[in-house]
Amino acid sequence: MGAPPQLTPEQRSAALLKAAASRKRRAEVKNRIKSSELTIDHVLELAQNDEAVAKMRVRELLEALSGVGKVRANALMEKLNISATRRIAGLGRHQIKELRNEFMKTTHAARPGKLLVLSGPGGVGKSTVASQLRKSGDFWVSVSATTRASRSNELNGIDYYFISDEEFDRRIKHDEFLEWAEFAGNRYGTPSAEVQDALNRGENVLLEIEIDGAKQVKSHLPAAVLVFLEPPSWEELVARLEGRGTDGPDRRAHRLQLAQEELAAASFFDHVIVNDSVERVVAQLVSLAS
Ligand code: ADP
Ligand code: 5GP
Repeated sequence: MGAPPQLTPEQRSAALLKAAASRKRRAEVKNRIKSSELTIDHVLELAQNDEAVAKMRVRELLEALSGVGKVRANALMEKLNISATRRIAGLGRHQIKELRNEFMKTTHAARPGKLLVLSGPGGVGKSTVASQLRKSGDFWVSVSATTRASRSNELNGIDYYFISDEEFDRRIKHDEFLEWAEFAGNRYGTPSAEVQDALNRGENVLLEIEIDGAKQVKSHLPAAVLVFLEPPSWEELVARLEGRGTDGPDRRAHRLQLAQEELAAASFFDHVIVNDSVERVVAQLVSLAS
């Protein structure tokens, strides 16, 4: 391969300016996709005449759409045979048609998001799965309020809103919870307004809550999809609770006793998924919301 062409300082600074303007344009287009101002159709059309948009990676375009995170974007690109670094300009006619079809079926600016509720016995891996989905951007994951004390690795506003009993009472009185329940001596509740806002924005929403709460959600919002996460075996569940190391022996024994009752509730749920691999569970949840 020959050496790259030598640019004069003026050419170099012009090229840098052009690249910066293109990046700015792509960022602006992505923001407008995120706010549902632009659909995938608009962007594919824009790319015909706008060089900066044409150079946007397909992955970036997909991940800017509401309801699409890394996992769903990967699955779609694999399905449509689009390579990981492909730019919009490099899409074939067939791929453009397939992308349009896919999004006419599934994501539409005006479509409200889907609500998935993930429950299962303590220690089965619910928060591990939920945090993976939050990171991938495939779901808007609700942050619950709780009266439980925070664990050393937990952050207020990220893992939970840690609030007092009095504040929890006040929120019940003002009807601020979509559902709430008591579990192992503490109370937990899902903030209603935040969940509704996310659904209205077209985001797919995940609630990671215990079984009573899941039943309450279904009775308020029958379109909610209830998913029960099961351990591969009882022994594996015990090992996971012990391995997590967040509870002393008494608390763990209490949680295991609750887990036995919780396992019996699986039949109420729309889907039962065995958590033998976090990656597989994540992919299944993404596909349930697609
Ligand atoms: P839950 O939120 O359901 O109480 P956690 O997400 O805290 O459960 O998981 C309990 C423990 O099990 C954690 O130490 C976590 O790393 C581990 N774990 C979760 N999923 C898996 C899996 N598929 N395989 C092995 N260990 C897992
Ligand atoms: P942990 O104390 O282990 O974080 O959570 C205990 C249980 O409370 C778990 O089963 C968890 O899913 C559930 N939980 C967390 N947030 C909520 C919530 O907002 N509502 C309900 N009903 N349960 C929740």
